[in-house]
Amino acid sequence: MRILVVSTPVGALGSGRGGGVELTACTLVAGLLERGHAVTVLAADGSVLPASCAAAALWTCNGSSQPSAQHQDRHAPITMPADGLLQAFWRRVLLEAPAAGFDVVLNLAYDWLPFWLTPVAPLPVYHLVSMGSVGDAMDRAIAELAAWDQRRLAFHTGAQAADFDLVEEPVLLGNGFDLSAYGFCAEPEPLLGWAGRVAPEKGLEDAAAAAAQLGLPLAVWGLVEDQAYAAAVEASVPEGILQWRGFLPTAQLQAELGRCRALLNTPKWNEAYGNVVVEALACGVPVVAYRRGGPGELVQPGLTGLLVEPDDVAALAAAAAQVGSIDRRACRQWVEAHASRAVLAERVEAWLVAGLGV
Ligand code: UDP
Repeated sequence: MRILVVSTPVGALGSGRGGGVELTACTLVAGLLERGHAVTVLAADGSVLPASCAAAALWTCNGSSQPSAQHQDRHAPITMPADGLLQAFWRRVLLEAPAAGFDVVLNLAYDWLPFWLTPVAPLPVYHLVSMGSVGDAMDRAIAELAAWDQRRLAFHTGAQAADFDLVEEPVLLGNGFDLSAYGFCAEPEPLLGWAGRVAPEKGLEDAAAAAAQLGLPLAVWGLVEDQAYAAAVEASVPEGILQWRGFLPTAQLQAELGRCRALLNTPKWNEAYGNVVVEALACGVPVVAYRRGGPGELVQPGLTGLLVEPDDVAALAAAAAQVGSIDRRACRQWVEAHASRAVLAERVEAWLVAGLGV
């Protein structure tokens, strides 16, 4: 197939501003190329594709980032900056994609405009929904599209899909990772890890409090989206508990992450998937997470980590103290079997083929 993958209109690929969608986009493109598809990526100016995507064409547009849906009020109307990247992307899709001969457009961005446009677009548009419910307008756009033709929608996990008003069983794709990029680390250091955008919905404060209870340092990797929130978390624990490591490219992230005894994953929202959970497992790092959203489905208690009741910091600390009983090799093996790049690309291809009837 000739596939046009539309990336997020929040920041350039490689900047970290697009969160997990950036890694998903690159892994998916590499996986589809590997299966013989011709792929073009539409992304913000300044985007960088990894070497694994060298065979993909890159179309870029200029414009202001779309405000992140998860940081709007739940009842907020849809707004777009006048020079917005989102409109630029979709004008280009509508004007250029049909003549360029694409069989399908695959949208990875959680934005109202492409969902609304889908029934009137001159070529098939499919959507991999990247978040759970965060606002009324998107809930409605997704419900309307599901009622029109739910084959156009796929989700990462059952917990995520359950947020939406669907008409049939959802297509669940999980996610995929280039496992050659993650080294297995058998011997951890006395260090806990946390990774993700530093923003309130990610719940870093609970992981920090658990680390403080255990008297262990907590390494934090990720883009600080909210400086005031980061400062408040820093102030909530004794000095030295938090080690701010910044936003690192995957090669460095995995090298550091692999040394952790455990990754703590403490989302306050219905996390759609949780890339960092699987990235830690790929390095052999067990995950202690809240039984909430994607991480609650991904972590296999007793095999790849432990799950505790959401928002229970004492239980989080107790579970992190017991994590030595988890076989680090089993963590890596679970990812190899369930969340490789090849597994994701096969699932995506099957979803598109079924919908397109090709
Ligand atoms: N990440 C990274 N470098 C870092 C920390 C995080 O590249 O130093 C990436 C990580 O690989 C993951 C993304 O940030 O793909 C976070 O995605 P996740 O699904 O965990 O959460 P989201 O940000 O989408 O809510």
